[in-house]
Amino acid sequence: TDLRNSDRDPLTGLLNRRSFYNTVHEHLVAKQEVNVVVNVTMVDLDKFKRLNDSQGHAAGDAALAGVATVLAECSGPGAVLGRLGGEEFVVADLGAASRHVSIAERIRAGIASLPFSITGSVGVCSATIPAGIEVEHPEFLERLIHVADDAMYLAKRSGGDRVDAGLLRQRGRDALQSAVGLARHQAAERARRCGRLRAGRGRDVGVVDHGGLRGLLV
Ligand code: GH3
Ligand code: MG
Ligand code: MG
Repeated sequence: TDLRNSDRDPLTGLLNRRSFYNTVHEHLVAKQEVNVVVNVTMVDLDKFKRLNDSQGHAAGDAALAGVATVLAECSGPGAVLGRLGGEEFVVADLGAASRHVSIAERIRAGIASLPFSITGSVGVCSATIPAGIEVEHPEFLERLIHVADDAMYLAKRSGGDRVDAGLLRQRGRDALQSAVGLARHQAAERARRCGRLRAGRGRDVGVVDHGGLRGLLV
């Protein structure tokens, strides 16, 4: 689009943190009708410091650029891709949670296939934009990112190179507003093992099979 270069991370070409948030709000969240599903994927490379230490900073830089290419190749054309920090990436898009989970798995596999001997921990979270919720409110995206981030850390604690799904409980406005804290502290307990993916369980969340993986359907 018409984003200025200052909105992009020069190494990877992805959006920087501020631009990612702005873009998601402008293009995904604020303009959407209700009952559309917003998906967030968080990626943090595993033991990335080791690559820098063993092969040098330039190799590390090349690996980061390679990860950005994997994200772009795996994501749909409407996805918003960002580099949030050093070796931390985020993808947001719209559409079925099951599709998003399969994209997350492709991202994980794509990173592992790069010629740098690196892996990534991947966390996903999907949420329906519910009727009556002020979706323009920045906290909506913050909640999603928070839960996806917790899922990513769960994947990392479980050894890395895996996808975990976080649960954002949604039962109306009040529930949504208190959902972050709840999901943050309980996602790990609620998670259950399912192949490479841990899927949370909640009243408004179903688990859907998709190509051998399981994802959250909200
Ligand atoms: P963990 O498995 O816990 O995620 O460990 P990690 O080593 O991936 O994470 P940690 O946060 O300890 O280190 C991140 C490293 O990423 C430290 C820094 O050297 C490296 N890094 C951050 N930004 C860049 C960059 O732009 N280029 C290069 N080459 N390395 C970077
Ligand atoms: Mg890391
Ligand atoms: Mg990190």
